[in-house]
Amino acid sequence: MKKVAVVTGASRGIGKSIAIKLAEEGYEVVINYNQSESDAKDTLKKVNKYTKGIIIKADVSNGEEVKKMAEKISEKYDCIDVLVNNAGAILRPGNWDKISEENFNKTLDINVKGVHNCINYLKPLLNKEKVTHIVNIASTVGENGAAGVLAYGAAKAAVINMTKSLAKEFAPNITVNAVSPGNIATDMTTSAGEELISWVCENTPMGRLGDPEEVAELVAFLASDKANFITGQIININGGYALGN
Ligand code: NAP
Repeated sequence: MKKVAVVTGASRGIGKSIAIKLAEEGYEVVINYNQSESDAKDTLKKVNKYTKGIIIKADVSNGEEVKKMAEKISEKYDCIDVLVNNAGAILRPGNWDKISEENFNKTLDINVKGVHNCINYLKPLLNKEKVTHIVNIASTVGENGAAGVLAYGAAKAAVINMTKSLAKEFAPNITVNAVSPGNIATDMTTSAGEELISWVCENTPMGRLGDPEEVAELVAFLASDKANFITGQIININGGYALGN
């Protein structure tokens, strides 16, 4: 039977690795992106090694664009099995006294409203004949806070709370879980600068950044039928970083 997964923000970083991993697991993949078209094409090339996929451009913070994305998906597929809400962004400077009102709102729009838009328009496409899976990508920052990323941390805290509320609302047909990464080697982390990365590695028991492929493995498990009794959970993957000293 054909299985279909939608991964938002699958042009780069963690989303790209999730799309490729799900293809390896036999899913056809809808690769959403916003700005990085050539990267999205590269993801598709890698997905095509295992299954098939389509690329759809949509800014997840824009409800109309997400609605159109849902229409395009339903033209191509009868239903979907998995939705991974991965698209996210940190807008810098993000310090409490430096972030502009515009960037504060934009951060919430991408990271929180983006998740709601995708669930709002894509939930009706989830297969009603079986248990299906929504996986949200949260962040350690959403639970522990962090200096310099006030709006982003607040947004990820909201994603964590939405995950728990929706798990209750959508059971027993749909599981809703979040994967909460620590510091993963992607553009988002490297943009923070080498000094911060060295500090993070020194303060991570495993002594390094995580690989996006390691996050993808966890997402693929939560997206599989092996995880049908797991819902409303926030699963950490951070090399021990969040344990503190
Ligand atoms: P990244 O390398 O910066 O990639 C971000 C991805 O999100 C890109 O594919 C980007 O697509 C997409 N995106 C951003 N804004 C979008 C929008 N408005 N609409 C649609 N797509 C959008 O970041 P990453 O590290 O892979 O992060 C992926 C997720 O993991 C995010 O939710 C992030 O908050 C979370 N996370 C990351 C880390 C980390 O250490 N890296 C830690 C905790 C949580 P385009 O380039 O095409 O616009």
